Formats: sequence, structure tokens, C-alpha cells
Amino acid sequence: MSDSIVYPVVDEKKWADRYSLPIKSNPCEKCGKSLTANIPFATGSWRGLTSALHGCGEEYDLFVATKSDKNERRGLIATFYSLSTQLNYSPQ
Ligand SMILES: [Zn+2]
Repeated sequence: MSDSIVYPVVDEKKWADRYSLPIKSNPCEKCGKSLTANIPFATGSWRGLTSALHGCGEEYDLFVATKSDKNERRGLIATFYSLSTQLNYSPQ
């Protein structure tokens, strides 16, 4: 992954509204714990929300993301279990 991830200090609801992101919960694929993606993050052209580390490793964190660019965004909401999956994602 070429872009590092940053965690802007911003209210999660304001961030979610700004990028039209839902605050989602999904179970961890490894331990089954319910993960809520509510921590604002940004990396490259993506803006999103991620869950807190809970002991299973970054590849099991939940990411809900969209494009920073309004024209690229167009209602795109992608849900990932790892940033490497995210960066390989190409919208249809
Ligand atoms: Zn887990």
C-alpha cells in the first residue's frame, strides 16, 4: 500500500455526513465480535470510517469508505475487512 492512513480528529457524525457514510456494524470474521466502523480515517483518495483494534489484527478491522472526490463518489460506499482489499477495489 503506497498511501499511509491518517486519522483526522473530527466528530464521527460530521465526517459521516460529509461523505454520506453509514455507521455500520458487522461481526469480525475471525472472532465474531460485533465491530462498529466509527473512527474517521483517510488514505489516498479514500475517506471512511474504521473500527477500533480489538485483538484480531488489522486484516479483521471493518472499513467503510468512499472516494474523497465528489464526482468519483456518486453514492459509492464500500465495506472492507482490510485496507489492502480496499486498495484493490474497483467500482463497476
Ligand atoms: Zn476479531
